[in-house]
Amino acid sequence: MLNSLIYSRLYNWYEINHRILPWRETEDPYAIWLSEIILQQTRVVQGIDYYMRFINRWPTVEDLAAADEAEVLREWQGLGYYSRARNLHKAAQMVVQNGWTPFPSRFEDIRALPGVGDYTAGAIASFAYNQPFPAMDGNVYRVVARLMDLDEPFDTSAGKKLFRQQIEQLLDRDHPRLFNSAIMEFGALYCTPVLGDNCTSCPLQACCKAYTNGTAELLPVRKPKPKIKDRWFTYHIYTTGTETLIHKREAKDIWFHLYEFPCDEHDIPTIGNRKSKIDFPYTHVLSHQRLHARFITHKVKELPHIEGTMAIKWSDLDNYALSRLTLKALDKLMSGLRN
Ligand code: SF4
Repeated sequence: MLNSLIYSRLYNWYEINHRILPWRETEDPYAIWLSEIILQQTRVVQGIDYYMRFINRWPTVEDLAAADEAEVLREWQGLGYYSRARNLHKAAQMVVQNGWTPFPSRFEDIRALPGVGDYTAGAIASFAYNQPFPAMDGNVYRVVARLMDLDEPFDTSAGKKLFRQQIEQLLDRDHPRLFNSAIMEFGALYCTPVLGDNCTSCPLQACCKAYTNGTAELLPVRKPKPKIKDRWFTYHIYTTGTETLIHKREAKDIWFHLYEFPCDEHDIPTIGNRKSKIDFPYTHVLSHQRLHARFITHKVKELPHIEGTMAIKWSDLDNYALSRLTLKALDKLMSGLRN
């Protein structure tokens, strides 16, 4: 009874308020998968542009499987978390190799793809095939925590299990596509982290235990944050005016297989060689690491020989997938280096 009240109010709200997004206009599982991978860790506004680029360049999973990994990484440039792009490419190849084209429809097969977790598999199964699987993204965790007044941290294994049980009970098995779309959108647009006075005119107010108990603003609860690790890098930008040196990151670490300028990593902050001109210090924050980088420009007649690096023309730099930090540095430095 309570569920049917939630459905009718939620669907009414969704009908009127949902955003028009390109991946909502299709039931093509490949397109939906692409959008879901892009939107992990990426805002919708930024994601639309990348989604359109990918779907136009590689309209089917076979097209993406046949692409070079370097090309995929280059198209991904600027989105960060490059393991997503590598997994995207690997997953496309797996779909083709396993004969699952145009895309797998069994939940277990979707879930087996690299880069696909429970949320993404549930989103694809429900959005593309209308199968009754929940799609628990951060917005849904928040709405469920508030509707049920759950103060268990949702990002621990015990918490995930508890929330999963709750959403399984709440899921509209007759309309899973609509239910998942609506509850995600409601969390994204209405039952937001900062509520303001949204609760006062909320269509789900009568079904919301956190509203009744006055705990909405306190939910959901997260486990305590892990300590952020600091790392210090010095980048050397050698330039003859027309050429520079770059190297590919091969270690299993951040920015795996991306290119950057020759770099030293230090255990502690250093002030470096005082004779060098430090162009600018830069701090780049990732989920568990804070990177402190300095970029030093060396104007030289001939490029030095540094193991593991290669000389390239500045004009060819666009052919290499660069780390986000390198791109940001280039934004600031490029005009001075090319003169
Ligand atoms: S009453 Fe407030 S906390 Fe409850 S669902 Fe509505 S907006 Fe969210």
